Amino acid sequence: MDMKQKLEEMLAAAKAAVTEVADEAALQEIRVRYLGKKGQLTTIMKGMGALSSDERPTIGALANRVKEQLGQLFDQHLQRVKQQELSRRLEHESIDVTLPGRRGVSGSKHPVTLITEELIDIFSALGFCVAEGPEVEQDFYNFEALNIPRDHPARDMQDTFYINDDVVLRTHTSPVQIRTMLKHRPPLRIIAPGTVYRRDSDITHSPMFHQIEGFMVDENITFGDLKGILTTFIHECFGTKVAVRFRPSFFPFTEPSAEVDIQCVICGGKGCRVCKNSGWLEILGSGMIDPEVFKSVEYDSSKYSGFAFGMGLERIAMLKYGVNDLRLFFENDVRFLRQF
Ligand SMILES: [Zn+2]
Repeated sequence: MDMKQKLEEMLAAAKAAVTEVADEAALQEIRVRYLGKKGQLTTIMKGMGALSSDERPTIGALANRVKEQLGQLFDQHLQRVKQQELSRRLEHESIDVTLPGRRGVSGSKHPVTLITEELIDIFSALGFCVAEGPEVEQDFYNFEALNIPRDHPARDMQDTFYINDDVVLRTHTSPVQIRTMLKHRPPLRIIAPGTVYRRDSDITHSPMFHQIEGFMVDENITFGDLKGILTTFIHECFGTKVAVRFRPSFFPFTEPSAEVDIQCVICGGKGCRVCKNSGWLEILGSGMIDPEVFKSVEYDSSKYSGFAFGMGLERIAMLKYGVNDLRLFFENDVRFLRQF
């Protein structure tokens, strides 16, 4: 049999083979049988060497045509097989449009985030802007500039995480006050929420927690402004009916200083376990910025005055949402978090 005949017969056989095929895998098998590296076409082409130089171009051209036709043949049938498979699936599978849909699980904000956002909203409405600072802080910003000298108890190794003699994990958000005052001139109304660190861990203390710092500096700022702003904040946050009181206190960076209590939100002032039967809850520390602090940021304390305040965000969240254990905020138990 000459090569021309072999090629034509092979093409005819391939055509017959593919018409019966019903799925993709079987079609692929036939393609390999004819067009693969060890397929029939390759086998026939090995006979080319024995041809005369007259025959070789004609047969070569024919072989190429056959190869091309085989390629087209397989592509056509691949389309047909795929179409048939799709029709089969559509016939057997149907969608019940009355079934309820699958709902995506959406996360929710952490209560500390919620309370931070709420406080930012309240203070923004009072003209305060948000500032941020580093959590790994230099001694100067965390202590020195805030009138906390080297021998102050707040520097006790038990309270502070030291990186080295001059670098600490910030123990409060107050260093943002110093950084902001060094960068900008009054008038200033700033709040600085953020993470702080203390070497302390029990039911009421966590080594990492959140604070919000606030301060206002301008000419003629008085204790009356402090009381006005903080009372407004408390009424916005806990309701206008809640009673507020200012108690004298001491902080190295404010003079005079005051701690601020609200009427117990749990018992309404009657006395309970949370307020230790006093009817009051301490929620923040505040005071008029000490002239020593102004000195370290080179503000003229005969011209400018201001007040500052700070509070623990977990504490505010506990009182606002009625959470009785601080540790719940850090365990990230979904059953707890879902309630917010
Ligand atoms: Zn109470």
